[in-house]
Amino acid sequence: MISVEQALEKILSYVDVLEAQPRPILDCLGQVLAEDVYSTIDIPPLDNSAMDGYAVRSEDTRGATERSPRLLRIVGTATPGCIPKGEVKPGTAIRIMTGAPIPKGADSVVRFEDTDEAQRAGVADEIGVMCEVESGRNVRRASEDITRGSLVLSQGVVLRPSEIGVLASLGRSVVKVIRRPVVAILATGNELVDTGELLPRGKIYNSNSYSVAALVLRYGGIPKMLGIALDSESALVAKLHQGLDADMLITTGGVSMGDYDVVKDVLAKQGEIAFWTVRMKPGKPLAFGTINGLSKTGVARDIPHLGLPGNPVSSMITFELFARPAILKMMGKKNLAKPTIEAVIEETIVNSDGRRIFARAIVEKRGGQYFARRTGPQGSGILTSMSRANGLVVVLEDKSRVEAGDVVPVIMLDWNEEVV
Ligand code: AMP
Ligand code: MG
Repeated sequence: MISVEQALEKILSYVDVLEAQPRPILDCLGQVLAEDVYSTIDIPPLDNSAMDGYAVRSEDTRGATERSPRLLRIVGTATPGCIPKGEVKPGTAIRIMTGAPIPKGADSVVRFEDTDEAQRAGVADEIGVMCEVESGRNVRRASEDITRGSLVLSQGVVLRPSEIGVLASLGRSVVKVIRRPVVAILATGNELVDTGELLPRGKIYNSNSYSVAALVLRYGGIPKMLGIALDSESALVAKLHQGLDADMLITTGGVSMGDYDVVKDVLAKQGEIAFWTVRMKPGKPLAFGTINGLSKTGVARDIPHLGLPGNPVSSMITFELFARPAILKMMGKKNLAKPTIEAVIEETIVNSDGRRIFARAIVEKRGGQYFARRTGPQGSGILTSMSRANGLVVVLEDKSRVEAGDVVPVIMLDWNEEVV
């Protein structure tokens, strides 16, 4: 048996960062930027108002109070998107809306609330300013956010909603990113029936393809559904061939010791195989290898193939541990580790056979401290135990038990790894 770390290292040695491609910015959420983005414009482009009010010369407001307002003649209106006509000369003001460029002559803005506008019925041709403002008050300076010519986003940055917004503010509709991997997914098993079909006696619905595809989507890949293959070499090969244009193949099932476990035989014949038992629970049997495939341009290349175990919980946990980092590496990401916290375990867990246990757990925060307890029966066929969990308690292989009250590492299943 090999360790979780050894298996992961081997798998990662078979996958490379994919190439960059230009994409519409809204398709790029969570992808890695593959160019340095410079600004061709100033943002904001002009000095503009941060408030609705009156653009004034600050010296005209000297001594203004609520009791003795300074009266200014209104000589125009400035609205966002238009270059204001006219000039604020001594003793005058221009009515201005938030975002409108500051008119010539003005150096500050008095908010409506600091004028007597509300007390004047209808449109007035003068306004009383009821407080002093200093030069620059309520003015947003040209280029205070971004200066023309500056480097705004560097290659390697993961694009979050704020970066998508920044790109839009620069006027970019398309940007170069590392492309998303296409992951072909194939479920194996004579017992499987697809969703939407009638369920004959003795059969079960194929859930693995869907949980695995959802995980592929969650981590930024593009699932390619190959459906279900019967447990024969010929059926498996025929289905796998439909996925040879993918960046990675994932099968579920057929990697144990049973008579119908043919995935490893196919791997051995179609490419290079490494078949392991990994020192972990659940998820001991894991097949990994490469299958001879073709690139989009018809060039021969080896496609990494991960043969996950068939049990629904095992396939999800082995995906998290092995397929997820491979997908993130292909996407150009640097942080491949799932967020892990320390929590107080609320029950004893016995580790009887020296494997690393990943126990489905509910983690709660109470009084500034995380606590974890298992979700109930831990059979690797009980998928609802995964659904109830928000974390995986890790019991290392060299620990024969952890006691209630011990502090244990917990892999958090739903935390966004970009921010921790
Ligand atoms: P296997 O690894 O093929 O021996 O499968 C182990 C267990 O997982 C068996 O009980 C299978 O019926 C079940 N199983 C395998 N594939 C799937 C699947 N795609 N969806 C749901 N259960 C599955
Ligand atoms: Mg099977």
